[in-house]
Amino acid sequence: MSETNPNGYRVLARKYRPERFSELIGQEALVRTLGNALSLGRLAHAFVLTGVRGVGKTSTARLLARGLNCIGADGNGEATLEPCGVCEPCRAIAAARHVDVLEIDAASHTGVDDAREIIEGVGYRPVSARFKIYIIDEVHMMSKSAFNALLKTLEEPPDNVKFIFATTEIRKVPVTILSRCQRFDLRRVPAEALSGHLGSICERESIAAEAEAITAIARAAEGSVRDALSLLDQAAAMTADSLTADGIAEMLGRPGRRDSIAILTSAMAGDSAAGLAALASAMANGAEPEMIIADLLDLVHRASLKAAGGTLEELLDAEKAPVAALAEQGIARLGRAWQMLLKGHAEVTAAPHPGAAAEMLVIRLAHLASMPTPGEIVRKLADSAPDGPQQAGPQAERPAAMSETATPEASPAAAPVSDAPEPPSPESQPPQTMMAGGQAEVAVTPPQIMPEAGAEPDPQTSRPQPQSIHDIAALAESQNDLLLASLIRSHVRPVRVQPGLLEISLTDGAPETLPGDIARQLSRWTGTRWMVSLADGAGGQTVAEERQAARQQLHDALAGTPLVKSILATFPGAEIDSVKPAEQPDEDPSHDA
Ligand SMILES: [Zn+2]
Repeated sequence: MSETNPNGYRVLARKYRPERFSELIGQEALVRTLGNALSLGRLAHAFVLTGVRGVGKTSTARLLARGLNCIGADGNGEATLEPCGVCEPCRAIAAARHVDVLEIDAASHTGVDDAREIIEGVGYRPVSARFKIYIIDEVHMMSKSAFNALLKTLEEPPDNVKFIFATTEIRKVPVTILSRCQRFDLRRVPAEALSGHLGSICERESIAAEAEAITAIARAAEGSVRDALSLLDQAAAMTADSLTADGIAEMLGRPGRRDSIAILTSAMAGDSAAGLAALASAMANGAEPEMIIADLLDLVHRASLKAAGGTLEELLDAEKAPVAALAEQGIARLGRAWQMLLKGHAEVTAAPHPGAAAEMLVIRLAHLASMPTPGEIVRKLADSAPDGPQQAGPQAERPAAMSETATPEASPAAAPVSDAPEPPSPESQPPQTMMAGGQAEVAVTPPQIMPEAGAEPDPQTSRPQPQSIHDIAALAESQNDLLLASLIRSHVRPVRVQPGLLEISLTDGAPETLPGDIARQLSRWTGTRWMVSLADGAGGQTVAEERQAARQQLHDALAGTPLVKSILATFPGAEIDSVKPAEQPDEDPSHDA
């Protein structure tokens, strides 16, 4: 970035170039390592400084050159991390007129001749300084032959020569060179550190600035101190009195945060008119549509982090309340908005009229706000189920593992079982009832009985006695016999289930050993002897068939509700991809409709 301000009166990037390592912003790790190396006298012959542009590579290189050659105010100092700034070497290097410190920009000197020139110079002792120092900027731009020439020098460097390389693209520097260098990675400066730096400069320069304005500059600079200072220069030149967030937003072509918050908050509240008005205002202020959407994405991201339990520390005070309010929408809604915005961002970028695309996006976002999330749909559906909201309502709130309740018939029987470890009498839970339940109105969750879900965590004290084929399959699962569980679910048609006795028929393709396996394992797991007999009758549905039927029923029920009808009508081409009962999230979704 240019260091000359159009007005020429203030070039902050140059004026505030760090004079000592302690003034390097955001590079504490580098300073510590260098300090240690210096104090231990373990300085390499060559250093490579890498990092994105503007993070301070050149500044660091010059500081290092000064530190290495500083002789202190009294002329007797050693190499130091705190160059005195007053001795002759310090002043000469700062003014770029020291004969022993050569700065080379490899971007403009890539040939082998320059490298040869360097090597010829390396042979001579430093004229006056402790070290002869070569600072090679953008070293990755050197030609291969130049690298080779340089490599020879690096292999046997004279004692009083140091190389300091700087590069934005460390991967393009040959490993043979890198392996002979001490490497320092300069980090992007965090926005907070940049804000603090900018704030203190504004104070010293008597530039009045809103905190929001400074933060906006710091964020826009994306970790580059130089960019941040250049932007501050620009902003200060534009503004007569004080820097405002709006002024910065206009300068950057970015939306003011207030505009972005207004757009997003309105849209996510379903108020497309207000959202569009805020969008129009942002665009009228000079914000690019693409930048606006990017900013909305940033807000949704921050709100999601908050909703996921994060803090709002990094935000400006003015942003905290609105972002917290957005976070209240919950992760499901925020995630949905994120996806829409992300897709919309690409559309806005590609659209012939980005402004129109951004408007469409805000309208869609607002429209989406009135749509319930899938979780809300299921809850709503469960509430309106004829079997009574008191049962289905709380059930939908519960985590999946707990929501395994069955039909009205089965539930009362199940409740006492989960309370008492002892098996109830066979009559209390005739398998027929369960089967009838399986066919009955099952709105959300296919029938599955709870007992073992409650008893399972402590099988030693309360041996579960399965009451149904579901129980048996679940028991097998809880005992980690997933194969048997799966075979039971797919192949076993229950005829009669009572403690100690399981009468079943099998579907085609069931393994012959299945009844024996079930009997053996059941006896082992329950601690009671179980008999498994094959019945002549057809038996009921298998668990898998029941689930499929329940899914189909749920699917049909869902598709018939006004809610889903309106969703399908609103999004032409949308279809019900799958309906997943809350209890079995892993099962293959049924692709129909
Ligand atoms: Zn000095």
